[in-house]
Amino acid sequence: MHRKTDPAIEWLSQLVAPLSPEEFLSKQAASLLAKSGQSEPPFNPQKALPPTVKRVEFAKLSRDGMLIPVQGGFIIKINSLKPLVRQNFTCAHEIGHTFFYDVTGERPWRPYKSMSTYWGEEGLCHAFARELLMPTEFVERDLEEHKNRDLEFILTLANKYKVSVEVAARRLMLDLSEYDKTVLIFAETGGKGKNTDRSIWWYHGKTLRRYLRKDEDAIFRQVLSVISDQPSKEILKATAKLWPSEATLQWYESRPDSRFMFLLSFCR
Ligand SMILES: [Zn+2]
Repeated sequence: MHRKTDPAIEWLSQLVAPLSPEEFLSKQAASLLAKSGQSEPPFNPQKALPPTVKRVEFAKLSRDGMLIPVQGGFIIKINSLKPLVRQNFTCAHEIGHTFFYDVTGERPWRPYKSMSTYWGEEGLCHAFARELLMPTEFVERDLEEHKNRDLEFILTLANKYKVSVEVAARRLMLDLSEYDKTVLIFAETGGKGKNTDRSIWWYHGKTLRRYLRKDEDAIFRQVLSVISDQPSKEILKATAKLWPSEATLQWYESRPDSRFMFLLSFCR
């Protein structure tokens, strides 16, 4: 979103040319891991800090984490109230932000006008974190060994790499174009006892991005309407039985946020 006009990305593009910012950041992730001596998952970002990061601090914060430029480098602050997988992801994400600073002076600074309305940098830092925690060369080996593209595989990888199920799913589907005939749907229930509106969002697998066939779209709409009404397991089970030859529906409920993830996979 607004990627092309994000001054942070424009600045980094010029700095790392002829590499693209994506290529540059992915190389940085690999090199930090190699230097840290970690050769098997799970990968701990706290052991793969770049030399610019002086230390990582844990505190009760109102957000996941932050990167603080100080004399001679950065301090990464992480919200200690969040689950461990979230803390690790945040640490990796904040490392990503360090590459958007000029670190040649006494204190890191951004030599351009940074505006929070741009989301390009955020997206790149998320991608950097996924690459650091689930490096391509390792995940590709898992993909070779496991042929099933189902929920079980995502849960296995999330456990192996110590990332959230959501991060594992995004990595496989969005970065590596696996699960190409699946729609990944998330539903936020707002937690137990809260009356906040349920919010639902989804991503189409690569093959489905151009269009959904008419019958697939009908199934997708049906699933969405059940989810937005109430994602009770019984209703979902009953719904999933309606089209066994056309699609399968699997779901996972993450605690304690009570966020549901659904895999609606079509049998094309
Ligand atoms: Zn960020």
